[in-house]
Amino acid sequence: MASGDGIQMPSRLPLLLSHEAVLLPGSSARFTVDSPRNMQLVSQRLLRGTSLKSTIIGVLPNTRDPQHDTDGLPTLHKIGTAGIAVQVVGSNWPKPHYTLLITGLCRFSVTSLLKDRPFVLAEVEQLDKLEHYTTPITEGASSSEGELGELSLKFYQAAVQLLGMLDMSVPAVAKFRRLLDSLPREALPDVVASMIRTSNKEKLQVLDALTLEERFKRALPMLTRQIDGLKLLQKTRKTGPENEKRVRPVRKGGVVSGRQFNLDEEPEDEDGDDIAALEKKVHGAKMPDAALRVCIKELKRLKKMPQSMPEFSLTRNYLDLMVELPWSKSTKDCLDIQAARTLLDNDHYAMDKLKRRVLEYLAVRQLKTSLKGPIICFVGPPGVGKTSVGRSIARTLGREFHRIALGGVCDQSDIRGHRRTYVGSMPGRIINGLKTVAVNNPVFLLDEVDKLGKSLQGDPAAALLEVLDPEQNHSFTDHYLNVAFDLSQVLFIATANTTATIPPALLDRMEVLQVPGYTREEKVEIAHRHLIPNQLEQHGLTPQQLHIPQDTTQDIISSYTREAGVRSLERKFGAICRAVAVKVAEGHRVATTDVSTAECPSQQGDKAAPPEMPIVIDHVALRDILGPPVFEMEVSERLTLPGVAVGLAWTPLGGEILFVEASRMEGEGQLTLTGQLGDVMKESAHLAISWLRANAKTYQLTNMVGGPDPLEGTDIHLHFPAGAVTKDGPSAGVTIVTCLASLFSGRLVRSDVAMTGEITLRGLVLPVGGIKDKVLAAHRAGVKRVILPKRNSKDLEELPANIRADLDFVTAANLDEVLNAAFDGGFPGAGHTHTLSSKL
Ligand code: ADP
Repeated sequence: MASGDGIQMPSRLPLLLSHEAVLLPGSSARFTVDSPRNMQLVSQRLLRGTSLKSTIIGVLPNTRDPQHDTDGLPTLHKIGTAGIAVQVVGSNWPKPHYTLLITGLCRFSVTSLLKDRPFVLAEVEQLDKLEHYTTPITEGASSSEGELGELSLKFYQAAVQLLGMLDMSVPAVAKFRRLLDSLPREALPDVVASMIRTSNKEKLQVLDALTLEERFKRALPMLTRQIDGLKLLQKTRKTGPENEKRVRPVRKGGVVSGRQFNLDEEPEDEDGDDIAALEKKVHGAKMPDAALRVCIKELKRLKKMPQSMPEFSLTRNYLDLMVELPWSKSTKDCLDIQAARTLLDNDHYAMDKLKRRVLEYLAVRQLKTSLKGPIICFVGPPGVGKTSVGRSIARTLGREFHRIALGGVCDQSDIRGHRRTYVGSMPGRIINGLKTVAVNNPVFLLDEVDKLGKSLQGDPAAALLEVLDPEQNHSFTDHYLNVAFDLSQVLFIATANTTATIPPALLDRMEVLQVPGYTREEKVEIAHRHLIPNQLEQHGLTPQQLHIPQDTTQDIISSYTREAGVRSLERKFGAICRAVAVKVAEGHRVATTDVSTAECPSQQGDKAAPPEMPIVIDHVALRDILGPPVFEMEVSERLTLPGVAVGLAWTPLGGEILFVEASRMEGEGQLTLTGQLGDVMKESAHLAISWLRANAKTYQLTNMVGGPDPLEGTDIHLHFPAGAVTKDGPSAGVTIVTCLASLFSGRLVRSDVAMTGEITLRGLVLPVGGIKDKVLAAHRAGVKRVILPKRNSKDLEELPANIRADLDFVTAANLDEVLNAAFDGGFPGAGHTHTLSSKL
């Protein structure tokens, strides 16, 4: 047991190995700990212990803790400082570590190592007497000790001299003064060496000095050096402030500089400069008064904070963001409607209705700049150019553009930021976006507002409401900033695939502009005017090197893509460009019309002839590059048995064709439905069966043995293939009826017909939505006849002329008309139900 005459120190100490900082008795220091043994010491000893004793640890300087706990220990420094851990802060960022604040008590020497895992534990011997640090001096006591007394007096006087040269209003200096008067002289070398600017090596020298005399001898030159440095500085200050800067770098050579008073709690010199620069920026950022006040307050706090405190960097980051934000920086709008029209036309083919509406919107903005109109929201399948129109709008206005992807955002702090009290807190996406664009009037594209999620962390839609509402957004408060930022100059545009999942309150503030999918012809045009030239440019090719004929484009559209937009088409062109770029780079030939693709590259390689320009991508080359066709025209192939019909469905990704299959077997009249159906779809199936049973006689529908009730002794199985897709919505009603009618009558449905429409129990056909997308899907799939509800006739006007010319539209008011149109030569029993419906 080591013997302090008063306070006792444990004889066994867990050791913290430190190679960066040196702790001296009587002072405090912060240690960042991330190596395995040190981490174990904190987690198993400091955090678990309950007594005061368990917070006492030994800090061993000049000893590096190995990076792996399997590594052996290096030689331990002989002398260390026992200290009390007064604060432990843990963090996971950027990697798990602890920051310890330790106050040194006394020196110890290691007598023997007891264990080195999970942390180092050693038998130690106490070297200083603790009461030295707790009993103030009595004048006579130390002066009576001859040389030592003289030395300590000299040291004390020097310390007083230094104090006299410092600014008492700095808190650390005031603390120094208090200490100087209250501490016993024996403690002074340790305390002063840790407060003035000394290197770790120098501190180590003081620590290793075991006799008081030696300690004074080693610390005194450090103190006088500091005083000399200060004198020098004061002299240069007198000669002119501009010289000050020149003196500072000298410090690197060992001479102290202007603010050399390196008290433990004071930020370093460079930081002083840094903070001054930051302060200047704060005043130059032209922020509103409220924000400025907050910044000034934070700056004040920052100045007082030690740099090693975690909060220092938090506050620093906050202030950096505040000065970077474009409080009053904006671009000048340059709106010329004529030019805007040309630009929109040049950037985008087709979409006339959309472009017209966008121009109207811009024109109104031109007339009334402070327009508090609704937010435009483009709704349509992926890849139809919603984002790209948004970007064009920004260009026509001469504004910065920034896209904020909202898909999957389910935490409101994504929009509004985290409060600064959290570790790793950040501003939200809106403020981040403003920081990125660095002006306060950009165009923000809120992408995929229909995919906002909801979670326990609050509803992001509610936060978005505040952003979008012109009445509120002039004082949008991000949690991180905690001061209002004016968003009223930002032009918001939203995009979505469907309006169904946009939260109603949000939808209410938007003007929805539908962007339907493209027809094959439109896609060919878009491809040749925009996509191909873009891809060529991106791949460093020229039209003189690569030519893709229209035929090939048609082929890609129908055999390699099945989509409403043009995104995957664009990717296919990318693939072609890459393949050709390789050929061009290698100097080989790509398979062109005159060269069979059967030739393998090695045969051609021998020739190593430069490719024939331009390389033309024909059907053969296409298969070579993209592989065998992915999509086949399958409609007609599948309609070869009774009990199959083709419906048209609408999904957020555009229109789709939907097969319905039915089969029957002996049973007890049960209906089985498979293929991921929603409730509405199941109801449609029951409706269809009821109607057919009710009208079985009219249409001469029978069961398997020819009985009058189709369901008698029969089980029916209805299946909607493509089971991975959830299907809901009533619009498959007519298809189910047709499919079952075909099953019960044993007749084939026409192989080129597709249909959509909701049914009622009495056999009426009701209108449905998404007609344009559905018809486009039918056209893509090679269907020739489309059966639609009569009340949807007006929707046909929106279709491009060539589609209207290609397809035969039958509009039906009741199921009888549907069946007549769906089967070759009509369906028997026509006329009867007609009378029924006309009564209704
Ligand atoms: P969305 O946002 O609707 O999913 P994008 O705007 O990302 O689609 O469009 C995908 C690609 O298709 C972009 O390269 C875009 O330029 C192009 N594109 C889409 N529609 C058109 C069009 N009408 N004219 C020219 N390019 C288009």
